[in-house]
Amino acid sequence: MLAPVVTTVAEVREAVAAARRAGKTIGFVPTMGALHEGHASLVRAAAAASQFVVVSVFVNPTQFGPKEDFAKYPRTLEADQKLCSESGAHLIFAPSAAEMYPERSVTFVEVKELDAELDGPARPGHFRGVCTVVLKLFNIVQPDAAHFGAKDAQQARIVRQMVRDLNVPVAVRVEPTVREPDGLAMSSRNRYLSPAERALAPAIYRALRNTQARAAAGEIDVARLESALAAELAAVPGARVDYARVLDANTLQPLSRLDREALVAVAVFLGTTRLIDNVVID
Ligand code: AMP
Repeated sequence: MLAPVVTTVAEVREAVAAARRAGKTIGFVPTMGALHEGHASLVRAAAAASQFVVVSVFVNPTQFGPKEDFAKYPRTLEADQKLCSESGAHLIFAPSAAEMYPERSVTFVEVKELDAELDGPARPGHFRGVCTVVLKLFNIVQPDAAHFGAKDAQQARIVRQMVRDLNVPVAVRVEPTVREPDGLAMSSRNRYLSPAERALAPAIYRALRNTQARAAAGEIDVARLESALAAELAAVPGARVDYARVLDANTLQPLSRLDREALVAVAVFLGTTRLIDNVVID
């Protein structure tokens, strides 16, 4: 059976209230749609943890820059509804932009410091848009737990901080990155890749793994790890490295030596498609 799609805040509140009255706990997975197996794994995790699972499908305009792919971001609601239903979702919330941002919305959420590196400077305003929409969705759905992917490590770290700093009563869970058999992290943006770019794309995860291997072999100098990583990525034909960083996994600040848990995070353009991926060194 297909989980119903609703488009208004009122309908979500009604369905969630009914589930609450039936004594159910509420799980939530926020997405932008064009769903794949990575999203399905979040929905399955939500269904294992909670008794009523809501998935939102909303391409959030406020997290896209003026030169980014908002207009052409893939929209595949029918297939999304099927995948969500098969993975254990009970309700899909697919609002319009007008439903989420009525005229005269002038309130935004900003998490400082954790956006100083990586996608913060690379995508000005991105995390402000993410935090604002995630907090709004949390207030609409009021879940007990919300599930995010490790693929967007900085996003997960920032959402966790927001929930802590603003006393939001939602448990944030971070689920492992789901990959294609050749290692490429699943992403809605992979469908933009030409066959030649798709064939080269697994080099991103290979370079991340090689960084882990260098660390395991005893390299602790972060500048050397970063330059080897950047060089390896830059050697991929047609690739342009946006960033290749090894940061403190907790603060997301620069690190000089590997003396604590580190996040190895990259953003790489293959042609016009920007892909991100990361691994942790602990
Ligand atoms: P998106 O709709 O792609 O912006 O992402 C919605 C949620 O799915 C975010 O929490 C992402 O981190 C997560 N996600 C995206 N790709 C993957 C993946 N390959 N594995 C696990 N989670 C993912």
